[in-house]
Amino acid sequence: MSMEFEQESGAVLERLDALRAADAPTHGGRVLSYVYDSGIAEIDALAAAAVRAVQPVNALDPTTFSSVAVMEREIVGFARAVFHGDDAVVGTVTSGGTESCLLAVKTAREIWRADAAARGVDHRATVPRIIAASSVHAAFHKAAEYFGLRLELVPVDPASGLPAVADFAALLADADDVALVVLSAPSYPHGVIDPIAEVSALAAAAGISCHVDACFGGFVLPWWPGLDAASWDMQLPGVTSLSADLHKYGYTPKGASVLLQRGRDRQRKQYFATTGWPGYPVVNSTLLGSKSAAALAAAWAITQTLGQSGFAELTASCARATATLLDVIRGIDGLRVVGEPTGPAIAVTADETVPAERRVDPHHWADQARTHGWQLQLQPGFDQAGTTRPGGAWLPATAHLTVTPVTESRLPELSAALVTAADEVRGVPHVDVGPLLGSLGAALGGSLPETLDAATAYAMLSGIGLAPGAQDAGAADAADAGAGALPDRLAPFLALVEALPPAVAEPLLTELIARLVEP
Ligand SMILES: *Cc1c(COP(=O)(O)O)cnc(C)c1O
Repeated sequence: MSMEFEQESGAVLERLDALRAADAPTHGGRVLSYVYDSGIAEIDALAAAAVRAVQPVNALDPTTFSSVAVMEREIVGFARAVFHGDDAVVGTVTSGGTESCLLAVKTAREIWRADAAARGVDHRATVPRIIAASSVHAAFHKAAEYFGLRLELVPVDPASGLPAVADFAALLADADDVALVVLSAPSYPHGVIDPIAEVSALAAAAGISCHVDACFGGFVLPWWPGLDAASWDMQLPGVTSLSADLHKYGYTPKGASVLLQRGRDRQRKQYFATTGWPGYPVVNSTLLGSKSAAALAAAWAITQTLGQSGFAELTASCARATATLLDVIRGIDGLRVVGEPTGPAIAVTADETVPAERRVDPHHWADQARTHGWQLQLQPGFDQAGTTRPGGAWLPATAHLTVTPVTESRLPELSAALVTAADEVRGVPHVDVGPLLGSLGAALGGSLPETLDAATAYAMLSGIGLAPGAQDAGAADAADAGAGALPDRLAPFLALVEALPPAVAEPLLTELIARLVEP
C-alpha cells in the first residue's frame, strides 16, 4: 500500500481515537446503562479476536459461509439449555433485542392470521392486539407500529412496578383479536418480573401466543440467587417464545440477541422466503439481508468459553453488587426503590412518605451523581391514563441503575457518590416546567402546536438551548469533542418530556437526534 494511504489512514485513526475519547466510558462501571462490562479484559479480547476472524463474512447465507450456521446452532443450543426448552424449541440469533422482539411480534401476527383464516374470519378486517404491561419495552411499541398491530397496555402498580393478573385475565377472555401477550423478565424500567407463570397459563388456555421478553435478564436470571426458573422460562408450557440479549449480560459487542420459539411450524412463520424475483432465492430468518457475523462470532466465542459456570460466577458478582446497592439506596433518606427488583436493574424514585424538604428528586439526584462521575439513567414520569384502566395511576419519575459485574469492584466509590449526591439535592423539588412550557408556547405564537414540522421543532430546541450544533458551528475541534453532547443537567429536559403531549415530544426528540447526523 502506498505511503500516502498509510499516512492518511494513520491520521484518520488518530481522529477516531480523539472521537472515542469524547464518548462516555464503556468500561469501569461509571455508566449504569447501555454498556455491560464483565470487568474481565480477556472476555473483550476474545470477542475482538472472534470479530476479526469473521470480518469479511456475509452471514446472509449460511450455506456459503458454513461457520455462521455452526456458531448460530451452538448459541441456540446453549440458550435452549439455559432456558429449559425441550426438543421442539428452536431459535435464531438476531442483531439485538429490538429485532428479537420485532420478530416475535411478526411471528405471532402470522400465527394469528392463520388461526383467523381457519375460523373463517377475514383478518384484514381486524387490527390484532398485543397485550402487555405499561412497563413493556418500547420495542413492542415499535413492532406494533411496523407490523400493523395495536398495543394495549395494562397498568402497573406504582409501588411494585407490577401489573395485575386480573387485568390480563379480563383482556384475554373471549378475545379473538389478541395475537400476542408479552411479559418481561424483568421489565427494563423497574427491574421486576411480570407474573409470567399465571399470565402464560391464561394465554395458553385462550390459545394465544405468549412472549417472554428476557432481553435484559436472559443471561443473568438463570443463575440469579433464589429465583426459580420454573416461574418464568420456557419450561412454562404457555410460553411460546423468549428473547434474551447476548449484547447485554452475554457481554458480547452490540449486535447479538437470541429468539427462541416453541415449535418448528411456529418458528417458520418468522422467516421470509421468496423466489419471486430473478435473483438468488432469498431466505431470511431475520429482518436484514446481508449482515455481519461479527457479534455472532463474538457471542459464540464467549458462550463457548464461559459456559454456564462462567455465567454463574459473573451473575453472582452482579447479584452481590445489586444487593449492596439496594441496601445503600434504601438507607438514603428521601429515596425509595420501586418494588422488589429481581435481577440487576434498580429503579429509584422520591419517597413521598417523608416531608417535601426531606425528599430527593431522582432526576436531580442523577444529575448530581453525574457531577461526581457516575451516570444513572433518567426515566420520565409516565401517565398511565392511556392504559386499560381509566385513570391509571401516574408512574413517578425514576433514576435507573443497570448493575454489571464490574460494579462490584467500584462499590465503595459508587455508594459514597450516591449518598453524597442525595445530600446535595435533598429538598429540591422536581423541575416545574410551567414557565418553560409557557415561553415555548409564546415563542410559537401563543400555544403549542398539535404536530411539529422539522423547522418548528428546531426552533423549539433552539429556544430551550438544545439545538445541536448551534453553539459550535464552524469549530471542528469543539464539534468533535462534544458532538451531540447534552447539557450538564438533564432534569429540566426530562420534565419537558413528561409534560409535553407525545405528539409534540416525539417529533421534538426526533429533531434533536436527526440534526446530530446532518452534514
Ligand atoms: C434492551 C431491551 C430490549 C431491546 O433491546 P435492544 O438490544 O436495545 O434492541 C427489549 N426488551 C428489554 C426488556 C430490554 O432490556
